[in-house]
Amino acid sequence: MNTLAERLIRTHSLTVPEYRALIEKRTDALAQTLADAAVKARKAIYGTTVFTRGLIEISNICKNDCLYCGIRRGNTHCDRYRLAPEEILACAAAGYELGFRTVVLQGGEDPFFTDGVLCDLIGQIKAMHPDVAVTLSLGERSRQSYQALFDAGADRYLLRHETANRAHYEALHPKEMSYDNRMRCLRDLKAIGYQVGCGFMVGSPGQTAQHLAEDLKFIETFRPAMVGIGPFIPQKDTPFANEPAGTAALTCYLLSILRLIDPTLLLPATTALGTVDPMGREKGILAGANVVMPNLSPVDVRKKYALYDNKICTGEESAQCRGCLQRRMEAIGYTLVIDRGDRKDK
Ligand code: SAH
Repeated sequence: MNTLAERLIRTHSLTVPEYRALIEKRTDALAQTLADAAVKARKAIYGTTVFTRGLIEISNICKNDCLYCGIRRGNTHCDRYRLAPEEILACAAAGYELGFRTVVLQGGEDPFFTDGVLCDLIGQIKAMHPDVAVTLSLGERSRQSYQALFDAGADRYLLRHETANRAHYEALHPKEMSYDNRMRCLRDLKAIGYQVGCGFMVGSPGQTAQHLAEDLKFIETFRPAMVGIGPFIPQKDTPFANEPAGTAALTCYLLSILRLIDPTLLLPATTALGTVDPMGREKGILAGANVVMPNLSPVDVRKKYALYDNKICTGEESAQCRGCLQRRMEAIGYTLVIDRGDRKDK
């Protein structure tokens, strides 16, 4: 076997130059070797179960202007919406009936969602469904804000670091955003006690194997509970409209490496992966992922939450999304479970 692959499987760690070499030396055969080891590692901990997260896209109003993102404030073609708290609660209740025991509230950085509004909302979800984990994915906030939301009952927070390389971060974001603040947020979230998710896009403009190697080393040392990765996909009204999309093959390869870095990781096969390849989510699971995130948003807003073009499942009802994924997972030998889906120890 490739010596780097063998050492990664055995020690769960490589140096940055070694991660880079592993990425640059990707072949179909090596990808299969890593996928086999990753699946073995995930099965030892999670068997063939796949956790689900019901994603509620609460607002596409955003004060930020990330160059890659379709809901950036500079996009005047974006048809803006915001769900009312009652609509969000209705989605969470519908999700509960369908078997979701985690809801993810995701959105742009919309000033309407103050700590007061969010704490009420989290409190109401928890009161209605004490057995549901609440995950937030609402961008950068102050430490005090993260603390207030945690005290209100939020369990997890997803904040992709986007890239662990400062110069690359600056190439993907406007100058008023900062790498240091993104990293400060992740550290604060962890210190407060959230189960934290970080992550990055695969094939984002300007990304090199060196950048990806730095992302892997960052994840190895930061030790998040979750890692969200998915291919970058251009959105037609952004400065990156004409950049190529990331590939499913490289994304799956990195999923296998992440599983081997930390066999206990919660690792979604994302909607973006299913968008670049019709079998992307299946391929992600077969590469070592163990989570899927079907859409629970009201059907009429799904097309408006257009982070990237051609997003799948924007016409489907929530029940169809869960049913479809259940069939897809069963077809490859895996099962969706009704469970909060917390990280398991080894
Ligand atoms: N505002 C929140 C949620 C962002 S949307 C936050 O800042 O965390 C969730 C993720 O979608 C982002 O972190 C980014 O990695 C991803 N994303 C944004 N635009 C994308 C694109 N064009 N292609 C693929 N993924 C994209």
